[in-house]
Amino acid sequence: MTFHCKNYDIVEDKCKRLHGECVPGRRGCVVEGRVALSEELEKKIKALDKQFPRNFWNR
Ligand code: SF4
Repeated sequence: MTFHCKNYDIVEDKCKRLHGECVPGRRGCVVEGRVALSEELEKKIKALDKQFPRNFWNR
């Protein structure tokens, strides 16, 4: 199955919604909590969560 997201900027290779890397399922992504993730994606999301903890933007 393939997936195309309207938020993905193919020219810049990034997410227009989150202003960063497209990692389907990451916090704030339109498919967060709605899809089964591969181990690779889960690792990337955990790394992002470490880099940007849940309260990162409320400082
Ligand atoms: S991170 Fe999510 S919302 Fe952003 S482009 Fe990728 S799939 Fe779409």
